[in-house]
Amino acid sequence: MKAFGFRAHGGLEAATLLDLPEPFPGPGEVKIAVRAAGLNHLDLFTLNGLPGVEVPLPHVLAGDGSGVVVEAGDGVDPWRKGDRVLVDPSLPDGTCEYCLRGLECFCRNYRILGEHTQGVASELAVLPAANLRPLPPALDFDSGGCAALVFMTAYRALYTVGELRGGEQVAIIGAGGGLATAAIQLARLRGARVVVVTGSAEKGERARALGANEVIFRSRGSEADRELWKASGKRGFDVVFDSAGEATFAGSARALARGGRLVFCGATSGPSVTVDLRPLFWRGASLRGSTMATRRELTEVLSLLQAGAVRPVVDRVFPLNEGPEALRRLASGEVFGKIVLRPG
Ligand SMILES: [Zn+2]
Repeated sequence: MKAFGFRAHGGLEAATLLDLPEPFPGPGEVKIAVRAAGLNHLDLFTLNGLPGVEVPLPHVLAGDGSGVVVEAGDGVDPWRKGDRVLVDPSLPDGTCEYCLRGLECFCRNYRILGEHTQGVASELAVLPAANLRPLPPALDFDSGGCAALVFMTAYRALYTVGELRGGEQVAIIGAGGGLATAAIQLARLRGARVVVVTGSAEKGERARALGANEVIFRSRGSEADRELWKASGKRGFDVVFDSAGEATFAGSARALARGGRLVFCGATSGPSVTVDLRPLFWRGASLRGSTMATRRELTEVLSLLQAGAVRPVVDRVFPLNEGPEALRRLASGEVFGKIVLRPG
């Protein structure tokens, strides 16, 4: 079967089409015909190689996906041939103290599909039955195949960790990534006033169409600080959502209101930051990390998607054999929303 991934770690040039043997489901596993696989920034990190993470080689990318059940292994009850499914990319062990409390994203042995294990950018994939959810009927395969990771991550970061409430002000740093397109919609849904910071006029327009109340354009240094402060009505933001890391983090911290929360679930521009702590304790502000979500939060996200309260934004769909080109587009940052690969 055809798949997209890499034979050895490297840069974009290492991403390639693979020809792999057809997988068969063992006990507790389900084989699906993949209809869509969603790429994430995580796939770029996985391709490069993450310290301490050993992946099976050759490796198949993409933890997000949708498809149709082909065959269920022994001991798999609910799934039947032909069922439309959405892939949950999280792999908690289910047995540690956090899993037992329903906090799967704190799992001591947390893994992510497509990062630690084979992903689903392939014609067929075998997954643990627990990683399949019914594809919400309102979603087509492309939308469903790229929704889970970004919506579950943004949902937990804004609602649970960020404690965003209606009437509050939120700044979302960056507009084009899949995570930002999910965060803008979820923040509006909660009834917050949403200010988006972006470097591109076109992305700004599209962010407005998704629900941003105000768009400000990225500039350097103290001018950026002043613009953010002004956009908040000179009181600061209750929540700042910033997964860029190094490039913007200190400015995001300065933009917090009294009691404000800076929520981060990534560091795409680099991991090391210097933050002035004085305004933070003076304002009672906090820095809150977040990653992925619990199973229950994913269930809530799927209800919102089914109800049409939020919708996945698809930047472009590529056939599987154009995987390398699709990954280059993701890496270029010139996207608005998600990149989808279609094996069929
Ligand atoms: Zn666990």
